[in-house]
Amino acid sequence: MKMKKLISGVALSLSILTAGTISAAQVTTQFMNQTYNEVKNWAGYTNPNVYYNRNVCGESNGITAYACNQNIQVGFSFLQQLENNYPLSSKYVFAHEWGHTIQFKYGIFSQVPYQELQADCVGGAFTYYAQNNLGYSGIFQSAQGLAYSFGDPTHGTGSQRAYYVRNGYNTRGNLVNCF
Ligand SMILES: [Zn+2]
Repeated sequence: MKMKKLISGVALSLSILTAGTISAAQVTTQFMNQTYNEVKNWAGYTNPNVYYNRNVCGESNGITAYACNQNIQVGFSFLQQLENNYPLSSKYVFAHEWGHTIQFKYGIFSQVPYQELQADCVGGAFTYYAQNNLGYSGIFQSAQGLAYSFGDPTHGTGSQRAYYVRNGYNTRGNLVNCF
């Protein structure tokens, strides 16, 4: 009985996530190059170097998604895992990292967890643009779901993260309002 309840809960959340008829992308070089161009054309302000499957930031736990100075590194297998659970969220993650490069370039440093929540806001602002200008229907819900499920002391609670993703979305794509 308990198992059945759990399964129906999972099925429910999956049906909400796929309600926007989006499906998980295959995270490839081509897909990430496209994502880079989409975020760059939208965000501006910085022009970071982007590295795929390479650790240039000295992250200790494998290559996830990380920004240091004017570098962004992303690991495809990490992003694919996110993508499989939250379709199109890898684009949100990339925009989040782009937000960090803006912070670093302009010397914006906040206390934990607000540094991360500001980057969530930037990612959320991108989802508005992505939904309305790139046709990525459902990316906002995916991003919010991802943020909610990845709370930790550095990034903020899941609730805080989801709240800031929504704040970003509510800028109607104007990331300046996140700063
Ligand atoms: Zn971050």
